[in-house]
Amino acid sequence: MRESASRSNFSRRRFLQGAGIAGLGAAGYGAYAATACPASQAKGKIVVVGGGAAGLSIAARLRCALAQPDITVIDPAREHFYQPGFTMMACGEFTPEETYREEASLIPEGVRYLADRVVSIDAERNRLSTAANGVLDYDYLVLTPGLDMHFEAIEGISRERLGEGNVHCIYDFKSAHACWLAIQKLSSDGGRAYFTDTWTKLKCGGAPKKVNMMAEDYCRRQGTRDRVDFQFYTAGKELFEVPLFRKRLDEIYAERNLAVTPHHRIKAVDTVARRVTFEKRTPEAASAGGDTAVRVETVTREFDFLHIVPPMTPPQFVLESSLIHDPATGKAAQWVPTDPATLVHARFKNVFVAGDVAGIPTSKTAAAVRMQAPVVTANLIATMEGRKPDAVYDGYTACPFVTEYGKVLMAEFDYRKEPKPTIPFVDPGHEHRPGWILKRYMMKPLYFDLMLRGRV
Ligand SMILES: Cc1cc2nc3c(=O)[nH]c(=O)nc-3n(C[C@H](O)[C@H](O)[C@H](O)COP(=O)(O)OP(=O)(O)OC[C@H]3O[C@@H](n4cnc5c(N)ncnc54)[C@H](O)[C@@H]3O)c2cc1C
Repeated sequence: MRESASRSNFSRRRFLQGAGIAGLGAAGYGAYAATACPASQAKGKIVVVGGGAAGLSIAARLRCALAQPDITVIDPAREHFYQPGFTMMACGEFTPEETYREEASLIPEGVRYLADRVVSIDAERNRLSTAANGVLDYDYLVLTPGLDMHFEAIEGISRERLGEGNVHCIYDFKSAHACWLAIQKLSSDGGRAYFTDTWTKLKCGGAPKKVNMMAEDYCRRQGTRDRVDFQFYTAGKELFEVPLFRKRLDEIYAERNLAVTPHHRIKAVDTVARRVTFEKRTPEAASAGGDTAVRVETVTREFDFLHIVPPMTPPQFVLESSLIHDPATGKAAQWVPTDPATLVHARFKNVFVAGDVAGIPTSKTAAAVRMQAPVVTANLIATMEGRKPDAVYDGYTACPFVTEYGKVLMAEFDYRKEPKPTIPFVDPGHEHRPGWILKRYMMKPLYFDLMLRGRV
């Protein structure tokens, strides 16, 4: 809510205080800082597939660390979106224009840029094909194409149909903006508001809850809270995987009368009748063989506003490649098999994987990417120099839960699901204002001007 910043009397002095706090918090990132540039005389043809958060951060670091860089970034997107900003757009804090920049303007100087789409990868032959520029050979591959969202896997929905029947999704740029307009209308008209998530791994698993809490807070601040019935239906068994943050989220949901219904997987939406259908999947006692049976029932609800999240998978060209299929077992993994510590591909030692596509047991976030980029850079250079890749990623990730206007529950944790707070002097188990200042005012410039340039 744009006006909320002025209403909360946000002063320049308080901003600078927040900046100081966050600066200290960022001190933890120093452990991963890139070595002085240029540090290596190693040579080799590096191709980066995907110029998103991970691809650009890694390309910038490699460009800096190699004396004779030969780096190509391939990405068909004209715009580069700061996706964490979509949540802020859906609560009126960012305008759509603030959330993207032209992709070409972000490519590091000295890095080749192909505005093209990779259509296949032949990892056995160190070769890939593009839609418009034919075949490219590489010595080293950085695989960072993010993930694909499958709106059509929900019956009655497609990306193009978002908006019909007051159905929205903040994972889509246009829909995130429409969602903000719809939340304001929901507040004035009242009604039944359903928020759902999905059954696959997803980027920023906190986002569906963030938009739910912010919509509720918006209605409360407008004095219309009693007009709206808020419901959160999750495919999972609980709100969040890390006990410290789950405890606080459970409390917030209870304190604010936000109903949570677990084990409900969205199946279909009738946008004309405004009906959403779920599969209620109740786990039953494990059989003697150890398999857990699931009882499936169909549940239908009528809504006035619906927020959905599509299932997500690696991009199709990755699913079709031997990067994900193991000929030894004949099986395909769900995400790209990657060493969780070194981020080297499980079978192809000249392939380095980062970001959402990686099959590693942590949450898929840009915060995770920030910690992965220096590890990939160090291990790729070590491999080029004939050394063992020994830089280690500990699974750090962060999910800044905007719980209300002015406060964030900063969920930072690692592979062990242990909290890893970086903001000093605040209780990590509670929402706080320094987290909001970081999220609302600092993270976007940090992302575009420092992280994508390989500086943090
Ligand atoms: C609504 C929402 C809220 C979020 N909130 C947060 C948050 O609060 N904090 C946080 O840290 N993270 C958040 N995230 C997650 C974060 O944005 C992602 O985890 C991060 O962008 C992953 O980086 P990536 O490089 O793997 O993928 P991306 O940044 O998505 O980049 C992938 C790139 O690959 C390109 N590509 C795709 N296919 C091909 C192809 N065939 N050939 C070549 N290139 C290709 C794409 O065009 C894209 O540019 C949020 C995401 C969303 C959607």
